[in-house]
Amino acid sequence: MRWATKLLHNGHEMDLTTGALSVPIYQVSSFHQFSPSREQEYDYSRSGNPTRKALEETMAGLEGGSHGFAFASGMAAISSVLCLFSQGDHIIAGEDIYGGTYRVLTRLFPRFGLEVSFVDTTDLEKVSGAFRPNTRAVYLETPSNPLMRITDLRAVVELARAHEALVIVDNTVMTPYFQRPLELGADIVIHSATKYLAGHSDVVAGVVVVRDNGLAKELGFIQNAFGAVAGPWDSWLVLRGLKTLKVRMEQHQAGAMAVASWLATRPEVEEVYYPGLPSFPGHQLHFSQASGASGLLSFRLVTAEIAERVLARAALPFRAVSLGSVESLISIPARMSHAAMSEEHRRRLGIDGRLLRYSVGLEDPEDIIADLANALGDG
Ligand SMILES: *Cc1c(COP(=O)(O)O)cnc(C)c1O
Repeated sequence: MRWATKLLHNGHEMDLTTGALSVPIYQVSSFHQFSPSREQEYDYSRSGNPTRKALEETMAGLEGGSHGFAFASGMAAISSVLCLFSQGDHIIAGEDIYGGTYRVLTRLFPRFGLEVSFVDTTDLEKVSGAFRPNTRAVYLETPSNPLMRITDLRAVVELARAHEALVIVDNTVMTPYFQRPLELGADIVIHSATKYLAGHSDVVAGVVVVRDNGLAKELGFIQNAFGAVAGPWDSWLVLRGLKTLKVRMEQHQAGAMAVASWLATRPEVEEVYYPGLPSFPGHQLHFSQASGASGLLSFRLVTAEIAERVLARAALPFRAVSLGSVESLISIPARMSHAAMSEEHRRRLGIDGRLLRYSVGLEDPEDIIADLANALGDG
């Protein structure tokens, strides 16, 4: 069976008791124990829920892992993964990771003695030099967001293996349709399912997938103990979104490619950040580890005034911090998604007032381009 067929045939396409062609929503907290002595699969929904389990097994299959875990949000998934570590452990994290991840790594987990170094993971020498005797993991996103910098996943896996450290990849922007880090040797894949997996701006959820049974056991313990689980209704919404993942991702990508190519021709645009452009640094490396470029791009205008004008005048996209939904979204990362980063850290990365991020939705690309042309002042 080819990969995309598994979106629709994955063991959860049909309810075995009724034949229903949609996973039932088990909106329940507690399960009756049919026998006082016999163990049952389900007893309480924090520990396990059939709708959530359907999502967890489906995602494990799609990422090429053995176990999936669904959480109440992407941040709940990330924080639960970080609970794998203990006081005195050290983590190497990509310097341009998601703002919320940066926030828990700088302001929450250090309270419990977790040490973090932020490095440019696209520079393997810097990664190599950041290992300490107590380094337990490398945490990264590729492409990073908003600047779409590409990290060599296979090379980082090799470095981490040599230091007996885990590789954790936030795969939110790519989805398993375009990139499957576990197949390249990573140990843990994380998703904000809020974005492309669910895809319709109607749910906040997170997913973790691993392939090692020992790691799965630890994460299962944390999921139940820490308790940041996805609810049944939210799990169902993600399952529903996954059925159309292939067609949505293909269209998001086609739209982003058209918009990025057009932006690259504009004199008001200094630089376009989209791995699908053959001229983009990292294009080749990206396509050696992924099969597509997804639907997210950023672009730097020649002045902050023009950036503000585009942000104010673009009429088709909604101004919103999220990404990966059916409707186009535009944002200014410095003030929105990456506001949690210190200004100095942002400046070092090049996230400034001239940079806009565009999550290309499923609208006709010609309309998106016409709207941007108008916002730039052609109208
Ligand atoms: C949105 C996002 C998160 C956080 O997910 P939530 O569902 O908002 O908690 C983490 N990583 C990336 C790359 C994201 O885009």
